[in-house]
Amino acid sequence: MIFDCLLTADAAWLGGRELAGPTAIGVREGEIGWIGPLPAAPDATHREHIEGVLLPGLIDYHVHAALIQPEKLLAAGVTTVMDLGWAPAEIWPLVERARHDPGLPRIHAAGPFLTAPGGYPSRQPWAPPLVAIEVDDPAAARRAVEALVAHRPATIKITLNSQAGPVVDDATLHAIVRAADAHGIPVTAHTQGSGQTRRAQLAGVRVLAHTPWTEILDDRLIADLARDTTIISTIDIHGWGEPSPDREIALQNLRRFHSAGGVVRYGTDLGNGPLPLGVNTREIAALTEAGLSPTEVLDAITGAPLRPGAPADVSVVPGDPIANPAVLGQAGAVLKGGQNVTDSDGGG
Ligand SMILES: [Zn+2]
Repeated sequence: MIFDCLLTADAAWLGGRELAGPTAIGVREGEIGWIGPLPAAPDATHREHIEGVLLPGLIDYHVHAALIQPEKLLAAGVTTVMDLGWAPAEIWPLVERARHDPGLPRIHAAGPFLTAPGGYPSRQPWAPPLVAIEVDDPAAARRAVEALVAHRPATIKITLNSQAGPVVDDATLHAIVRAADAHGIPVTAHTQGSGQTRRAQLAGVRVLAHTPWTEILDDRLIADLARDTTIISTIDIHGWGEPSPDREIALQNLRRFHSAGGVVRYGTDLGNGPLPLGVNTREIAALTEAGLSPTEVLDAITGAPLRPGAPADVSVVPGDPIANPAVLGQAGAVLKGGQNVTDSDGGG
């Protein structure tokens, strides 16, 4: 088989605890068609040697893409983002544009937040019109989910923030999760305020948009979450590098969740506050502080490993990310869907 492009590098991370040596990746029709040691590499019409260590494209699992310059994230090695809540008039056109624009990362999105009437974030000063759909009973919840499904959202985002306003009742919460389940769409919750994380877990929410920070979670809840829920880290929203009580609580919850076997994903909440536009090395350091090993950090910030059949999303770092995860802060993107994003000629 002849490949469109053969990427070569002196090292790559193919999963596991050690880097692979000289590696070649054959790319065909946007996917990885072959990957293995350089001497065994197949033929290709175009060869390109990349300086550094190849990684799967990096993923930020919590951003608000309309509030940042997403092309800068791609340049920093983040080939995919998950947008966890924005106004339909802005986010759906941006998702569509990212499908075709090689200068933008892949953008998966939730669309508008679901919340209780008057609930967070509908009254926030930064909230654009229609950023949230307010639902006050199970029937309204089902209608809201059905209306969102037409846009093929990657997740349904619900806010359970009892510190900033009313929250939906249990019947409405369950109705949202059941309606989303019927379409195979996971529900992601922002939980804030005493007891809200437990309510989400009991209702079948399977992704938390933030590590809970408003209370120390009890051991039983940590064990239940570790069994069936993914937590998106966002530790650095607390203090932006300065110590804070909220950060300490979140870090303690994340540490216990991880040590109980829970799945942690790297996420920053970019667009919300003064966060660096790129891989946030303070968030990376927080993951390490929470007990993730360097390869667990790499798992948390990538999706599928580099392997045949995976989308050809490839990033590169200038040093060994297992020896030093902070090198992720110097990442760059190489390919998105097999398209070269390191130069402007569009080849690759
Ligand atoms: Zn957010």
